[in-house]
Amino acid sequence: MANNLMQEFPDIQILKDEPLSKYTNTKTGGPADWLAFPKDVAEVQKLVQFADANAMPLTVIGNASNLIVRDGGIEGLTMILTQMNGIQVEGNRVIAQAGASYIETTKAARDHSLTGLEFAAGIPGSVGGAIFMNAGAYGGETKNVASEVTAMLPDGTIKHYDNEELDFGYRHSAVQDNHGIVLEAVFDLKPGDQAEITALMDDLNARRAAKQPLELPSCGSVFKRPEGYFAGKLIHDAGLQGYTSGGAQVSTKHAGFIVNVDHGTATDYLNVIHHVQATVKEKFGVSLETEVRIIGRETE
Ligand SMILES: Cc1cc2nc3c(=O)[nH]c(=O)nc-3n(C[C@H](O)[C@H](O)[C@H](O)COP(=O)(O)OP(=O)(O)OC[C@H]3O[C@@H](n4cnc5c(N)ncnc54)[C@H](O)[C@@H]3O)c2cc1C
Repeated sequence: MANNLMQEFPDIQILKDEPLSKYTNTKTGGPADWLAFPKDVAEVQKLVQFADANAMPLTVIGNASNLIVRDGGIEGLTMILTQMNGIQVEGNRVIAQAGASYIETTKAARDHSLTGLEFAAGIPGSVGGAIFMNAGAYGGETKNVASEVTAMLPDGTIKHYDNEELDFGYRHSAVQDNHGIVLEAVFDLKPGDQAEITALMDDLNARRAAKQPLELPSCGSVFKRPEGYFAGKLIHDAGLQGYTSGGAQVSTKHAGFIVNVDHGTATDYLNVIHHVQATVKEKFGVSLETEVRIIGRETE
């Protein structure tokens, strides 16, 4: 295994022991051994094939808005695709690279009077993360608009998926099962009225700002919706709003969110998550599963 990835790939921006708290929405998380910012598919492929050949763990993160990176950081190579952020509009199709912001993608659709992506106007992830998670809000889901996805498999080969092959489900897509890296997505939209599209996006964003603690760092809804219940209501009814461990706190504005109120760490977040899960289980017999992805090394 190369001791120095920067020497191996002088043309690719790579940082060593880079704190991921600089990139995560919660402002927590330990360092990546190596953090690379590839500029194009060829660079992604070089890194993927290198990791494969050297049995080096490889992790891809998007905008880290649905992610808790443990304080031990991430072993091996981590990639962030923010430099691959192109968005093109061709007829009724919006074609976005994986590192593009999902919010910017909704704006591109609006600017071309295309309707269908309004639901995502306030989802603060990348296009890659939205495909991976089948992000959704206000009755809309990524699965209803994503018609094609190009991904790279762990051996560096390219795979094209159509909508059916993506096997979208609640916060699930086939990319998760194949350990693929999303490179690009096509959204098939319909011609619409720009004023109506804008009004809907503004309305959804206002509703979001009224309900969600957007003024504080968080990772969105922490728990999946348990069948027959709402996670936020269970947490509220259990009297857990305001529960704090270190600097992480169950939001007093939206019980489904955990906010970083005072230099919290990933360990603080995990302590709050475990306390919420144990309390809700004890009071209501319901197991809360995390929607947020928890990755990285345990701290010793
Ligand atoms: C304030 C707030 C509000 C939110 N509201 C919503 C909402 O309404 N609806 C909703 O669904 N979510 C919501 N979220 C959660 C989050 O924005 C979405 O899940 C989003 O799709 C995650 O995208 P990301 O780029 O941030 O992914 P990350 O958090 O970086 O990663 C999430 C997972 O996707 C994987 N991943 C990321 N990029 C790629 C790629 N290119 N290829 C393969 N895998 C990849 C990562 O490995 C990780 O497992 C909210 C979050 C916040 C902070």
